[in-house]
Amino acid sequence: MDKIFKEDSINKGVKNLAKMIKESEYTVVLTGAGMDTESNIPDFRGKDGWWENIDPIQVASIHTFESNYPLFHEFYSMRIKTLEGVEPHKGHYVLADLEKKGLIHSIATQNVSGLHQKAGSNNVYELHGNIRTIRCNHCNKEVKLEDFLAGENCSFCGKKALRPNVVLFGEALPIDVWIKAEEDIKKSQLLIIIGTSLEVYPVNFLPMYAKGKIVLINNEDINANYEFDIKLIGKAGEILKELEKYVE
Ligand SMILES: [Zn+2]
Repeated sequence: MDKIFKEDSINKGVKNLAKMIKESEYTVVLTGAGMDTESNIPDFRGKDGWWENIDPIQVASIHTFESNYPLFHEFYSMRIKTLEGVEPHKGHYVLADLEKKGLIHSIATQNVSGLHQKAGSNNVYELHGNIRTIRCNHCNKEVKLEDFLAGENCSFCGKKALRPNVVLFGEALPIDVWIKAEEDIKKSQLLIIIGTSLEVYPVNFLPMYAKGKIVLINNEDINANYEFDIKLIGKAGEILKELEKYVE
């Protein structure tokens, strides 16, 4: 049976989680979009812009990169600019602090924002890549973000092929990163899943590797094929801020 804590009982759930963290010798965190939304990431779909009619699944694809580079470039330039000035929230800092204290080992994230690293987390597996680092799709060399934003050609091979280091629709996931995340989850005595409804393949498979306890922190309850030891339903930032009090 799941144990669900929310609203009035959230404090009790947080204390339970703090105890689990202290008892666990190997804790891994898995985060999704819900972790970042509290950082007020602006919606890139403008109210009156033509972006409103653009389907990100179409544009954020290897097909658009190859067939319509100007559209691809404009889309990602805009996405990168909307993330400028977005800061980690308290929850990101709490996770970074727990890593420094040796209480969590790593974070696997579906987010491409880089906010975990910005908050100070070091051991982060970016399952879908990072939008603020740029590489050449032709020669694979890393180039400066400014080169991409300026619409320049690759400074190494001269091709017009610069792109963010994110996984595009139609592309394979970064297998090395996924294997490391899987291995860590297999070793974990505690897996804390934050801000993801785990609906998407293959990320919904990752918790199945866990042999220890599994905890969910999410703004709504979810159904999954695995049992959670406890579920904390509420805002990730607030729950993690509360958690900080009990893991000193
Ligand atoms: Zn190149």
